[in-house]
Amino acid sequence: MGNSIQSKAKLPSQNPTGMSTFDVMEINSKGQSSLSEHLPSLKWCEVHFLYHKGLLLVFDNDSEIESIDFYNKFEVVSEQLEKCIFTIKFQSAKGFIRMWKIRCKTLQEFKMWKKSLKNVLKMRWTNMKTCEICHKVFGVMNRRHHCRKCGKSVCAKCSPIRSTLPELTYKELVRVCLMCGDELSDKRKGTSEANTPNFTLISSKGKSCSQRYISLDTV
Ligand SMILES: [Zn+2]
Ligand SMILES: [Zn+2]
Repeated sequence: MGNSIQSKAKLPSQNPTGMSTFDVMEINSKGQSSLSEHLPSLKWCEVHFLYHKGLLLVFDNDSEIESIDFYNKFEVVSEQLEKCIFTIKFQSAKGFIRMWKIRCKTLQEFKMWKKSLKNVLKMRWTNMKTCEICHKVFGVMNRRHHCRKCGKSVCAKCSPIRSTLPELTYKELVRVCLMCGDELSDKRKGTSEANTPNFTLISSKGKSCSQRYISLDTV
């Protein structure tokens, strides 16, 4: 009991700091051909993760079995805090969509992973001089904001929507641009923040600075 060494998860972090060990289970059972040849389906497997320049490299012993690209089709499907499990969806190096459960050893490790994940996803933000939707130049009067979904530089007028983005670890309402808002309005059908984790708010037309919002359902 007392001789177990508690390993500290340092990955993914913004700087590569070493390997982390997690239990992984592949759960993408649709289309057997897309399953990893390295992982047995529906069984926990101990693998090692190494974060490097936006990629999470996955090792089984010494051989690299997968690389997860945070910039390409990466999503957090669900979080089970009580079990310290994340379910993620990503495009494999060979182009297949995979779904993995990642089990952390401790709640502390789970929280650290989540924080690091948020930081990594933030690195997708662009830093443009003009709004990527309306092309107005940013300055003192027209501040640059970032859509939390696509990471684009957008002005306030072009990002009036607030939504939770659980697939990108945002449980709170965050800024979303008009283009991503269109996409979200098809998916989010909640009536209030209290009864759905995927609630989306959209500002009333022409009142982008107003604190009053109308839910998409009523628009
Ligand atoms: Zn704009
Ligand atoms: Zn966007």
